[in-house]
Amino acid sequence: MHDVAIVGAGPVGATLALALAGQGLDVLALDARPPHETLRGDRSIALAHGSRLILERVGVWPRLAAVDGAVTAIAEIDVSQAGGFGVTRLRAREHGVEALGHVVSYVALQRALDDALVAAGVPVRFGASVASVDGGAAQARIVVAGDAEPVEARVVAVADGAGAAVAGIARERHDYRQNALVAPVWRDTPHRGVAYERFTPAGPIALLPERDHYGLVWTLPPERTAPLLALDEAAFLAQLAHAFGSRVTGFVRAGARRAFPLALERARPLTAPRVAVVGNAAQQLHPVAGQGFNLGLRDAWELAQAILDAGPASLGEPAMLARYAARRRADRLSGIAFTHGLVGVFGADLPLLRLSRGVGLALLDVFPPAKRAFAQAMMFGLR
Ligand SMILES: Cc1cc2nc3c(=O)[nH]c(=O)nc-3n(C[C@H](O)[C@H](O)[C@H](O)COP(=O)(O)OP(=O)(O)OC[C@H]3O[C@@H](n4cnc5c(N)ncnc54)[C@H](O)[C@@H]3O)c2cc1C
Repeated sequence: MHDVAIVGAGPVGATLALALAGQGLDVLALDARPPHETLRGDRSIALAHGSRLILERVGVWPRLAAVDGAVTAIAEIDVSQAGGFGVTRLRAREHGVEALGHVVSYVALQRALDDALVAAGVPVRFGASVASVDGGAAQARIVVAGDAEPVEARVVAVADGAGAAVAGIARERHDYRQNALVAPVWRDTPHRGVAYERFTPAGPIALLPERDHYGLVWTLPPERTAPLLALDEAAFLAQLAHAFGSRVTGFVRAGARRAFPLALERARPLTAPRVAVVGNAAQQLHPVAGQGFNLGLRDAWELAQAILDAGPASLGEPAMLARYAARRRADRLSGIAFTHGLVGVFGADLPLLRLSRGVGLALLDVFPPAKRAFAQAMMFGLR
């Protein structure tokens, strides 16, 4: 029987495995993907400053930073709304940090994590598709498709991005009735590390500076998504320019476009006997403020601390799992409320609301404490 088994060695599961490496525990990670492949198509991930610190502690940050162009610093974030006044700019130097966050590609991050797992000697079984996870009093059982025998562990961390097959843990779902359209886009001027967040009546749009381009995350009602995907490049760029108005101009090129539906999902409860869920398996957020992965990394870090604090005798015991759930409660709730609230407040197209949103953004710009609080949320999450 293993001490710890991790279902899913995606960005969150791999970080958890690395945080537990070298501590004298028998850790096994299982992942359905083939070796050297990633689950998701590439997407730009905005890493908060706090996430960088976690990746430094597990030794992944230097690997990532050593890859040419893999990490792009966010020097400024420009927040605006279509059809309303009020603009705010968060600047790293005003907050005494070298960057408000960093943009990395999902694929580059996963590769750096996979390499770090090999270097740390953490065993990962690739091609192992987990069918079910069932906790008991003394151990949890993991059924892997095609295996004759289950994998057993004293505690199982589920980091499969979906929390699909865990006995005793339900999943609540709120459909945003919105899609995210993602694509790399280029402008005729360098990005200089400026990220843009634009609130439009149809949904928020983010432009994340990455290498020589931006990662676009455009949230839209489903009925508007298919026509945008079908447009030729020039017509698509014209639509994007229209959405940004005078705030961002000079779009010249767009790469492959993809779209997928958005929903708020959360696991209830966060633990079952001998089982804890982390990352997107615990909560999947709207990508509006780039909080999802950052929250997931903090899940991984806190679960690792709860496991290490417990010591061999109490590994996977109810008290250890309760400690993990308690440590995650406030951060999870505020992350969910923050992104859900942003979608609600900026999503409705009512003139009065547009006015108050403008006042909010304008005040944020002239009232340093509010701006500081917003910048802190972007850099470290809400706690
Ligand atoms: C458009 C978009 C933009 C985003 N931008 C940001 C951002 O800027 N900042 C941010 O913080 N977050 C962002 N997110 C969220 C971020 O992508 C996720 O939070 C992150 O990918 C979650 O990582 P994870 O490891 O929990 O899950 P996943 O990335 O889903 O990885 C799960 C792993 O589990 C494996 N797996 C799945 N099922 C099984 C199974 N049955 N058996 C075994 N293994 C299995 C998979 O192969 C995979 O390796 C964005 C999301 C979207 C949709």
